[in-house]
Amino acid sequence: MSTLRFQALKETLNRKPVKIKETKRRSELFGNNVFNETVMRQFLTKEAYQNIIDANKSGLKISRVVADHISTGMKEWAISKGVTHYTHWFQPLTGSTAEKHDAFFETIGDGLAIEKFGGTQLVQQEPDASSFPHGGIRNTFEARGYTAWDPTSPAFIYGTTLCIPTVYVSYTGEALDFKTPLLRALQSVDNAATAVAKYFDKNVSKVTATLGWEQEYFLIDSALFASRPDLQLSGRTLLGHSPAKGQQLDDHYFGSIPSRVLSFMRDLEIECMLLGIPVKTRHNEVAPNQFELAPIFEECNLAVDHNSLLMDLMDKVAERHNFKVLFHEKPFKGINGSGKHNNWSLATDTGVNLLSPGSTPMKNLQFLTFFINTIMAVHDNEELLRATIASASNDHRLGANEAPPAIISAFIGSQLTAVLDELEKVTDGKLSPQEKTDLKLNVVGKIPEILLDNTDRNRTSPFAFTGNKFEFRAVGSTANCANPMTVLNAIVAKQLTEFKKSVDKLVKDDKMKKDDAIFNILRDYIKKSKKIRFEGDGYAEAWQVEAKKRGLSNNKTTPGALKAQISKKTIALYEELGVMNKREIEARYEIQLEDYSMRIQIEGRILGDIARNHVIPTAIRYQNILIKNVRGLKEIFMDDFEKHSKEQIQIIKEISEHIEHINADITQMIDARKKANLIEDAEKRAFAYCDDVKPYFEEIRYHCDKLELLVDDELWPLTKYRELLFTK
Ligand code: ADP
Ligand code: MG
Repeated sequence: MSTLRFQALKETLNRKPVKIKETKRRSELFGNNVFNETVMRQFLTKEAYQNIIDANKSGLKISRVVADHISTGMKEWAISKGVTHYTHWFQPLTGSTAEKHDAFFETIGDGLAIEKFGGTQLVQQEPDASSFPHGGIRNTFEARGYTAWDPTSPAFIYGTTLCIPTVYVSYTGEALDFKTPLLRALQSVDNAATAVAKYFDKNVSKVTATLGWEQEYFLIDSALFASRPDLQLSGRTLLGHSPAKGQQLDDHYFGSIPSRVLSFMRDLEIECMLLGIPVKTRHNEVAPNQFELAPIFEECNLAVDHNSLLMDLMDKVAERHNFKVLFHEKPFKGINGSGKHNNWSLATDTGVNLLSPGSTPMKNLQFLTFFINTIMAVHDNEELLRATIASASNDHRLGANEAPPAIISAFIGSQLTAVLDELEKVTDGKLSPQEKTDLKLNVVGKIPEILLDNTDRNRTSPFAFTGNKFEFRAVGSTANCANPMTVLNAIVAKQLTEFKKSVDKLVKDDKMKKDDAIFNILRDYIKKSKKIRFEGDGYAEAWQVEAKKRGLSNNKTTPGALKAQISKKTIALYEELGVMNKREIEARYEIQLEDYSMRIQIEGRILGDIARNHVIPTAIRYQNILIKNVRGLKEIFMDDFEKHSKEQIQIIKEISEHIEHINADITQMIDARKKANLIEDAEKRAFAYCDDVKPYFEEIRYHCDKLELLVDDELWPLTKYRELLFTK
């Protein structure tokens, strides 16, 4: 039975790095397969080109006639690069990307054929997608969903297919994907932030949210991967004893990259270059066989698309290198899991990063305005922010002593804390000229232009300010960034709108100067939002106690966390900004609950199967060997046999005990599952899976892992942790 394990190991040990040839510079490859501005100039009429540029800048609609021109240009470009098919590329709520390829090829009668791709095909498609999750919005009998072109994310070629980024909505207009609400949130943050930025510079006419994600992942040899049914079906190991050596020596982090892995990375980077994904950084992560990749930040919508595309690409490229990419937040117990830090900021069309301190007091007041408003937004919506990163897999990571806790707090470093402490003392009402000069010179003016290098680093914070951006660290490695980015941009939009209203009111009603009004409102915000700021160790037990005292939420599991998504407050927020309506919100909630229950159900089934069909039979086989041995000893030693077989008998007993526990726990787990399955209500069912089914996993695992230590290595069927993690 254990042959698969040993075969896989042998195969892995014989692997050689795949040779990667780089004949061109990366900068020459960059964007070669993207329908970018350079290509557009070449293949489009002036008018069509200008239309796309305007659509990007101001959301201007593209007419059908122009769409026809654009599609023709796109087709010509694609065909010139050997493309035969096109697809609308979108991100349904499954968490992965979807595509359905259609050929350009079309018959025109009389046995003749042409390549055709019209404006209609560019603008809209109707994928027969009745089995994408829709949370009851799109009844299969009712109406179909359709995809619609998103001109703000450029089309690209993958293989021989032209991919057109699109949104996916129902015929009644409800969002069925990740992108639609994101685009709406980005629009609202643009409106709100532009209005506030105009206080400081009248020339600002657009504010863009920027995102730079950092993708962590594990790489496992594909043969070893195939030898583990749990990894194959659930993305994580449901059992396996810790190896003698894990990450305690910290000898992997930033270490030299293994050669097979380096080949994979180079191959991947080249593909990324062609697709215009600006990847820049690669390194080993903390855990063995764990790595990270990060790009240069981009406009948020494009960055989200690029991350989805990258994850897809990683799977494909890994195949060529006989690797399997593990995106799961916690594929291995006892060693670090993977996250996807979301670095976020706001940038103006005048080229200013609004979260970057400047060289003048005025620029710094602008910085403080956006900085404090972001903290205020996080303060008011911490529970919702927590909900956006909730998933069955991320539950294993949050609060597991390596990743940020499930409590949302903001870290800003000692320098900025001191600045906020000073600002808190600002006079209520109009400021005296002396106070203002003082503030400008000694407080606001003293914020160093480059905080970047002197912001303290606190790795335990889920939401940290890192010099010129906030870093949302609690996002999981499997996540689509759209979800957390939709919420972050929406809450900041809402907050900035409130801020503007308050400032304008003070200026109008109290005849305050604009600066005075801004100082006054910011002072109030600093006071009000204090409880969200935390500079200490987020992993410490003391923080859990302290956070509770402060009244911060601490939702440790997904079903508990998700509820914030359908609170009255959330619905009001989304409806006010036009990000989502009640129906869309409720549908999403249901989809996520369903997803949770199904994942726990699948894990339960796999674990039951492996434990009963692999582990127990193996243990019995070994036990039989021992029994035979004891019988033999008895034959030889007769009355003296006990002395010689004491240990064997002890092991025989222990094996029986573990088997008994495993079997009983599996029976109870199956009962709990059956009960959970009968529950109609999705929310209650998710809680049942979380509270009644999941707790058996650890119990069952404990006994299986003990057996792994007892049973003869040659018989053990499942590839062990040390083999999965240290075979290079
Ligand atoms: P680390 O967090 O690992 O120390 P860095 O701080 O150097 O790494 O940067 C991490 C990520 O932050 C990179 O992907 C980078 O592109 C992104 N980033 C830098 N500036 C911004 C910004 N203004 N907006 C969004 N992301 C940014
Ligand atoms: Mg980081």
